[in-house]
Amino acid sequence: MTDLAEFPAPVTYLPADDEAWRSKVRSFAESAIGPRVRAMDTAARIDPELVRELFDAELMGVEVPRAYGGAGGDLFKVVLTIEEIARVDPSVAVLVDVQNALVVSAILRHGDGDARRRHLLRLATGTVGAYAISEADTGSDAFAMTTTARADGSGYVLSGAKRWTSSAAEAGLLLVFARLAGIGLTAFLVDRDTPGVRVGEPIAKMGVRASSTCDVTFDEVRVGRHNVLGRPGTGELLAIETLNIGKIGIAAQLVGLAGGALAAATGYAETRTQFGQPISAFQGVSFPLARLAAELEGARTVLYNTARLVQRGGEPAARLRMTAVAKYLASEVAERIASQAVETLGGNGFIPDYPVEKFYRDAKVGKIYEGTSNMQFRTIAGTHE
Ligand SMILES: Cc1cc2nc3c(=O)[nH]c(=O)nc-3n(C[C@H](O)[C@H](O)[C@H](O)COP(=O)(O)OP(=O)(O)OC[C@H]3O[C@@H](n4cnc5c(N)ncnc54)[C@H](O)[C@@H]3O)c2cc1C
Repeated sequence: MTDLAEFPAPVTYLPADDEAWRSKVRSFAESAIGPRVRAMDTAARIDPELVRELFDAELMGVEVPRAYGGAGGDLFKVVLTIEEIARVDPSVAVLVDVQNALVVSAILRHGDGDARRRHLLRLATGTVGAYAISEADTGSDAFAMTTTARADGSGYVLSGAKRWTSSAAEAGLLLVFARLAGIGLTAFLVDRDTPGVRVGEPIAKMGVRASSTCDVTFDEVRVGRHNVLGRPGTGELLAIETLNIGKIGIAAQLVGLAGGALAAATGYAETRTQFGQPISAFQGVSFPLARLAAELEGARTVLYNTARLVQRGGEPAARLRMTAVAKYLASEVAERIASQAVETLGGNGFIPDYPVEKFYRDAKVGKIYEGTSNMQFRTIAGTHE
C-alpha cells in the first residue's frame, strides 16, 4: 500500500493554520468591509475607521514578526489575506496589498536591523505605506525615471514627481525610487511629513475608486543616510524583487475579485426565475459560469504555487517567470468573470444595487498596474522554461 503522507499535499489544500487565517479574514471582510463597500466607492475614499480596524485585526502587518507587533505570518498568508478582502472589496485589497506585499515586504527582505526597528512596528500598528516608482512619463519603462537624489552633507536631497501612488492619501511612509547622482537607482523610505513632500488630491478613477491614487512631489526633500533601503545604487534590483512579490499580491487581488464576482453571479442565477425556472437551469447561463469557474481554479492554483515558489526562494528566473504568469492569468480571469457576472444579472448587473458592476470596473486595472500584460509577456518571453 502506498503511504499517502509520502506525497506533497496539493497547493490548494491548506494547512490548518492557513485555513483558520483564511476564515478569520473572510469573516472580517464580510462583517467589517461588506457593509461599507458601496458608500466607500461613491465617496471614492476608504473609511478611516476601517483603516484602523484593519490594523487592529493584524491585516496590515501579516508578515511582520510578532516582536514588532505584527501577525508573524508568511507570504502565503499575505496572499490569503488579499484574496479574501478582494472577494468583498478590491479597493480595500489594494491598500492591504501595497502595505503587505510591497512596503512591509521590501523592508523585511531588504532592510537592515535599523530599518526594521524604525519602521516595522509602526507599519504593523498604525502607519499606512505607499510605493512610488511610476512617473507621468515613465510607467512601463519605470527605470527611466527622472526623480533624482543627490548626496548632501550627512544625507541626500530628493527632487521630482511621482504619479499613480496608491494609498498616498492615507500613507505616513513612502518607499520612493530615485536616481542617485553618480551611483544609480536607489530606494528611500521617506516620512510623508518631511518638508518638501506634497501629496496631491486623489485622481478620479473608473475602478478601485476608494483606493487613493495620487501624484506625490518631492521638492528638495532632505533625508538622512538611514533613509536608504538596501544600499545606494541597488534600487533597480530592489524594485524588481519587490515588484515580483507585488505581482503575487495583485494576482491574489484579482483571484479574490473573480471569486467574489463568480459567487455573486452563481448565487443570483440560483434564485432568479424566468420561464418558471431558476435561470441557473439554463445551460446558456450555467455553462459560461462553469467554464470560468474552471479558469479560476487554474489561476488560483498557479497563484498559490507561485507564492510557495517565491516563499521557498526558488531560482530567480523561475520566480520572475511565474509571478508574471500568475499576474497575467489572474487579470484575464478576473476581467472575464466580472464581465460574465454582469450579463448573468441582466439589468441588475448594470446598477450599483448589486456588487457585480463594481467588480467589472475594478477588474480592468488588473491588466495595467504592476506591469501591463505586455510587460508580463516580455518577462515570460525572456525567461524560457
Ligand atoms: C489605479 C492605479 C494604481 C497604481 N498604483 C501605483 C503605485 O502604487 N505605485 C506606482 O509606482 N505605480 C502605480 N501605478 C502605475 C502603473 O504601474 C502604471 O500605470 C503601469 O505600469 C503602466 O504605465 P503607464 O500608465 O505609464 O503606461 P505606458 O507605459 O505608457 O503603456 C501604455 C501602453 O503601451 C504598452 N507598452 C509600453 N511599452 C511597451 C513595450 N515595450 N512593448 C509592448 N507594449 C508596450 C503598454 O502595455 C500599454 O498598453 C498605478 C496605476 C493605476 C492606474
